[in-house]
Amino acid sequence: MIMVLTGGCQCGKVRYEVKGEPMNQMFCYCSDCQERTGGDKWFGVWYSHDNFKFTGAETKIYTRKGSTGADVHNHFCPDCGVTVCADITAGNLFTINGPSFDSSEHLAPKMAIFTASAPNWAVLPSDIPIFKTFPSNS
Ligand SMILES: [Zn+2]
Ligand SMILES: [Zn+2]
Repeated sequence: MIMVLTGGCQCGKVRYEVKGEPMNQMFCYCSDCQERTGGDKWFGVWYSHDNFKFTGAETKIYTRKGSTGADVHNHFCPDCGVTVCADITAGNLFTINGPSFDSSEHLAPKMAIFTASAPNWAVLPSDIPIFKTFPSNS
């Protein structure tokens, strides 16, 4: 049986559904993620485009350039403002806001990336691999 998980924004208008196991899950300490979250990192849970779908209200979208130069579309709720996920077009995947899931059994960060950009007050994890940028080019 294929695992189906659901989640959404803080007010509950934006909802999504994912199928199967996440491709990966990680803390991202890049400056874009800090600005977006207001914290030191984003906890992103990766699902391919094929295994993700929106099921609730339409999101608002803010588009920025990712580290590869390709577009990253941040999807956020027009009412409560929570960024539910970002569409990483370079990888055909969504990086989903970890705490936005309705359940947490599948959540276990596997690595920390872009730690070279972490603020000096960040406390980096000690039990997972840490990469200064992205694993393929650090
Ligand atoms: Zn909302
Ligand atoms: Zn980031």
